[in-house]
Amino acid sequence: MTDTAGPCAESPYASASALLRADDVWKSFGERDVLRGVSLTLAPHEVVALIGASGSGKSTLLRCLGLLEPIDDGQIFLGDEDISDPRVDGNRVRARLGAVFQSYNLFPHLSVLDNVTLASRVVHRIAKKDAEARALGLLERVGLAGFARSHPDRLSGGQQQRAAIVRAIATDPEVLLLDEITSALDPELVGEVLELVRALAGEGTTILMATHEMAFARDVADRVVFLDEGVIVEEGSPAQLFAAPRQDRTRAFLARFS
Ligand code: ADP
Ligand code: MG
Repeated sequence: MTDTAGPCAESPYASASALLRADDVWKSFGERDVLRGVSLTLAPHEVVALIGASGSGKSTLLRCLGLLEPIDDGQIFLGDEDISDPRVDGNRVRARLGAVFQSYNLFPHLSVLDNVTLASRVVHRIAKKDAEARALGLLERVGLAGFARSHPDRLSGGQQQRAAIVRAIATDPEVLLLDEITSALDPELVGEVLELVRALAGEGTTILMATHEMAFARDVADRVVFLDEGVIVEEGSPAQLFAAPRQDRTRAFLARFS
């Protein structure tokens, strides 16, 4: 399966200073090869949009990168560390990452504040008072301070996703992995969530986001990666990839959005 010239040999984006790097990652479920030799790098402060049809492997890739799913072959590096090494302590690595998914992000039985502070307190062992002070500051920033003591079901979908993002950034993760975080939202709630992602991107947060929001990707991403049937078919700047895709498969995919 590793018959290529070498990890990332052909990618102009391969970089020794990558914050997160996948080298020739393979993943199958049963007979189905879902990721077929994916190599991808994320530089510090970079915002990369992962696009591709439903079923192309975007979520699987994000889950593998976030150590929520074991890979079958290849390697994943966070900084200098090979986090795909089975001897690695997954909890320690996951504590360095932030992840938000399509839905069901918040624990329903905990208040928003407890959701946001849970990892800080339990994983990072930050004192409750300090964790809550920071959480309240972040909730204030996204206009949710008034909901700190509420349970998630009192919030709109957009507010819940903003709270989920706050929870993900509360521990200062090195990389934020966002998996179609607006897909389950009513259209009128999408904007408020994307604005928060835009603000985080503007502050230099390193972000890998699977998204169907092409206009947003064009606007905010430094680079767009097109995944098709578990293979990265093409990657480039938004200007290049959206305006002048090089591959037929990219063109066919993008035509659905125009
Ligand atoms: P995307 O996020 O691009 O829609 P996914 O990564 O969710 O794609 O899925 C890619 C393929 O992998 C799909 O065919 C899906 O059915 C399959 N798949 C994903 N997760 C699992 C799983 N846990 N078990 C079996 N098949 C899965
Ligand atoms: Mg998905």
